[in-house]
Amino acid sequence: MRKVINDLWNIVEDYRQLKSHGYRCDNREYYIPEKTANVPDQSMDNESASDVKSDSFEKIAKEISECKNCRLCNDRKNSVPGTGVLNPLVMVIGEGPGAEEDSQGLPFVGAAGQYLDKWLNAISLDRATNCFIGNIVKCRPPGNRDPQFDEIEQCVVFLKRQIALLKPKAILTVGRIASAIITSQENGIGKLRGRIYNYEGIPVVVTYHPSAVLRDRSYRAAVWDDLKILRKKLDEIT
Ligand code: URA
Repeated sequence: MRKVINDLWNIVEDYRQLKSHGYRCDNREYYIPEKTANVPDQSMDNESASDVKSDSFEKIAKEISECKNCRLCNDRKNSVPGTGVLNPLVMVIGEGPGAEEDSQGLPFVGAAGQYLDKWLNAISLDRATNCFIGNIVKCRPPGNRDPQFDEIEQCVVFLKRQIALLKPKAILTVGRIASAIITSQENGIGKLRGRIYNYEGIPVVVTYHPSAVLRDRSYRAAVWDDLKILRKKLDEIT
C-alpha cells in the first residue's frame, strides 16, 4: 500500500514539475518505430566522407550483431544497436542494455526507458518522430554492471559511426558513463551538468540516468533544468 501511494505521489510530482516548466506533459502511447528508413545523402568534406557515405544503419547493426570483439558477446541474447528515426533532432545516449533490452534487442524499453520517454515527451521529443536512442555498449554487461574500459573501447567505434551517419542536431547523454565518454570529462553528473558541450560540432547536454532518478527523486528538478537547456538549444538551432 505504501508503495502504491509512493508511486502515485511520484506520478503527480513528475506532472507538477513538467507543468511548472511550461512544457507539454501528455501521455503519448509508447511506440517503437521500424528501423529501416534511409538516411538522407549528406555531403562531407573530410577524409572519412567516402567511408560514411558507404555506411548505413543496417550495415552497422549487422556488424554489431556479429561482433565478438569483447566478452559481452558471450551472454547476449540480442545485441542492441539502437532505435529511432535516422535523421534525428536528438540522439540520446545511455550506458548499455539491461535485461529487458537484451531480450527485446531494443534500447530503453524497461522502467528507465519508459521514464526517459516521459522526459522526452515533455520537451516535444520522442523516439517515433524525432529522436534516435542508443547506448555506449551494445551488449548487456552481466548483472547490469558498469561496462569495462576495454569493452567501451571496442564498442564506442560503432557509436561514433552511428553519430557520423545520423548527424543529430544535438546529443543528450544520460548517466555518468555516457556523459564521460562523449564529453571526454571524468567528473560525475553533478559537476558536468548545467552547460553545453561539443562533440564534433554537435551540442551535447548531459543529465542523470533515468534509473538513478527513479532511485533518488531528488535529482528530478536538475533533470528538468537540463531538459530545458536542451530544448532551448534546439529552438535556437532549428
Ligand atoms: N539503461 C541504459 O543505459 N540503456 C538502456 O538501453 C537501458 C537501460
